[in-house]
Amino acid sequence: MQAPLLEVKNLKKYFDTPNGLLHAVDDVSFTIEKSKTLGVVGESGCGKSTLGRTILHLLDSTSGTILFNGRDITKVGKAQLKELRRDMQIIFQDPFSSLDPRKCVSDIIAEPMLIYKKYPNRKAAMEKVAELMETVGLAARLAYSYPHELDGGRRQRIGIARALALDPQFIVCDEPVSALDVSIQAQILNLMQDIQQERKLTYVFITHNLSVVKHISDDIMVMYLGNMIEKAAKQELFQRPLHPYTQALLSAIPIPDIDVPKKRILLRGEVTSPIDPKPGCRFAPRCQYAKPECFETNPEIQEVVPGHFAACHRVREINSLGSECGGGQV
Ligand code: SF4
Repeated sequence: MQAPLLEVKNLKKYFDTPNGLLHAVDDVSFTIEKSKTLGVVGESGCGKSTLGRTILHLLDSTSGTILFNGRDITKVGKAQLKELRRDMQIIFQDPFSSLDPRKCVSDIIAEPMLIYKKYPNRKAAMEKVAELMETVGLAARLAYSYPHELDGGRRQRIGIARALALDPQFIVCDEPVSALDVSIQAQILNLMQDIQQERKLTYVFITHNLSVVKHISDDIMVMYLGNMIEKAAKQELFQRPLHPYTQALLSAIPIPDIDVPKKRILLRGEVTSPIDPKPGCRFAPRCQYAKPECFETNPEIQEVVPGHFAACHRVREINSLGSECGGGQV
C-alpha cells in the first residue's frame, strides 16, 4: 500500500449560530491514496461540502489534523496557503456562479496562471490555456465567449480547466455534475476520469447521487449529520452496506429489472438537529433498530470487517456478523 496523499484525523468544523454550536463536521477521519477517488455521499446538510472546504482551508477547522503528502497543513500562514493552492483545487457545483461573468473563457482559465506567474509571459500562459481547452473538450472558437453565452456542460468544462491550470495533485469536486442535464453528466464524469488517469490526480468527490458516486469512486464514505458513519471500498459498500442509514440509502436506488423484487427501506422519524446535538447516535430517531443504548452514546467508527468501517452499536447483530475484525485505522 502506497503512502496516502491526504490524511484527515478527527477533523471538526463547528459554526457558532444564534441557536448554539452547529456541528457541521464532527470527528471525521480518513485517508486517500494518490490517484484515487474518495466519494463522499449523504443527504443535503450532512456536512460533506463543509468537509471539502475545510480540507482546502476555504474554512478554518475547529480541531483535528490534515496531512498532505505527509506534511501537516492544519494551520498554515498566508504564504503557505498560497503554495497549497497550487496543489489543492476545487470544482464547484454551480459553474455559472463560480465563474466571473465579466471575463471571457480564456481569461478565466488564464487567471490562476497569471496570479501565480506560472509562465514567463501572457503569450506562454495563453498557449497553455489553448492546451487546457483542448483537454477539457472546449472548442478553440469559444476562447473569447462569456460564461452566459455557454450551456451548463461547457461552463463546467471551464471550471475543470481552471482547476487544472496550476497542475494540482488534489481536487475537491463538490457536486460537479448535480446542476447538469443527465446526458451531460455522463460526459463530464468521463472527462474527469480521463483527466484523473492522465494526470494522476486524487479526488474527493462530493455528491448526494449514489449512481454518480458508484461510477467514479474507489472508496466511499457515507456522512450523516456531520458524522462519518460508514466507509469501504466501492464494491464492498454497494454489495454489503452495514450501517442502517446506508442500507436505507441504497434501497432507494431503482433497479432497471422489474423481475427483481426490491424492498425499499423508508426512513421515518425526525432528523436530529446538528446544533448542540444530544448524546447518542444521531440516526437513532429514524433507525428501525434503535435500542435505548443508542440514545445514550454516539457510536465510534470501527472496522467491522477488514477495510469496512461503520459507526453503529448494533452493526454485528443487524448484519449477523461475528467479531471478524477489530480496530483498524480508517
Ligand atoms: Fe441504529 Fe443504534 Fe446503530 Fe444508531 S447505533 S444506527 S440507532 S442501531
